[in-house]
Amino acid sequence: MTINIILAGPRGRMGQEAVNMVNQESDFKLVACIDRKNGGKEVKDIAGLPPLHVPVYENAKECFEAVKADVFIDLTVPEVGYYHTKLALENNIRPVVGTTGFTDEQLNELAELAKSSNLGCIIAPNFAVGAVLMMKFSQMAAKYFSDVEIIEKHHDRKLDAPSGTAKKTAELIRQSREYKKQGHPDEEETIRGARGAEMDGMHIHSVRLPGLVAHQEVIFGSPGQTLSIKHDSLNRESFMDGIKLSVNHVMDMKELAYGLENIL
Ligand code: NAD
Repeated sequence: MTINIILAGPRGRMGQEAVNMVNQESDFKLVACIDRKNGGKEVKDIAGLPPLHVPVYENAKECFEAVKADVFIDLTVPEVGYYHTKLALENNIRPVVGTTGFTDEQLNELAELAKSSNLGCIIAPNFAVGAVLMMKFSQMAAKYFSDVEIIEKHHDRKLDAPSGTAKKTAELIRQSREYKKQGHPDEEETIRGARGAEMDGMHIHSVRLPGLVAHQEVIFGSPGQTLSIKHDSLNRESFMDGIKLSVNHVMDMKELAYGLENIL
């Protein structure tokens, strides 16, 4: 069966990678793109994209009404991503969303809409399968190691710190261990922030440098041993397996799933 796909954000770093991935998958077919510019043109007219005779729309509503599709992929910015996702569900199209930064209120509203429409919807802040496994393995390890620190490293254009993945990892670890205030009870920072951010007694350190993509190391320690669980996204190709998996999976779902871990 061919899955017909509309994609928003084709000129972005994630979007370009995703257009190429969809184009290379024999069971996927790109049927339209939604872009801020280039309305009325075709994908082939946009620099860096494959030579496809696929229409580009600036108006998402017009696109969803004119083009028949099974799945909608959003890789844009939170304000428009939320609006697009809602519109897709209202037009009977299943969303797969990589855009990050939705509020809890928006997520709850989309979950209700997906459920009442009987439609699958996947929103995942990290589509790298390895990153999801890193979080799961960390949750397993936290049952046996109560002391842990998280070091996450990203490119310097990232706006939020700590990363959504670091927060999610800390949350999963929190569910697996008793609260523990780590480090020496009397420890002092001679420079403020030296011990990083604190969540539930564990410390998170955020590094921001040009050249990095998305990296995280979770270090556990107990007397006489340490355990490091580390994941590196070296480029945006690392997120494509998760998007591919989600496009296939969302076809059989009837509600919203938040996080790739829910479908792995
Ligand atoms: P980018 O800045 O390269 O691309 C952003 C895209 O959004 C561009 O195509 C831009 O044209 C489009 N856009 C911006 N404003 C728009 C508007 N008003 N209407 C329509 N389109 C608009 O960013 P990126 O690195 O490609 O990331 C895109 C999104 O994916 C971000 O939200 C980012 O946080 C997220 N992301 C998610 C994952 C994941 O695994 N889920 C991984 C990396 C990035």
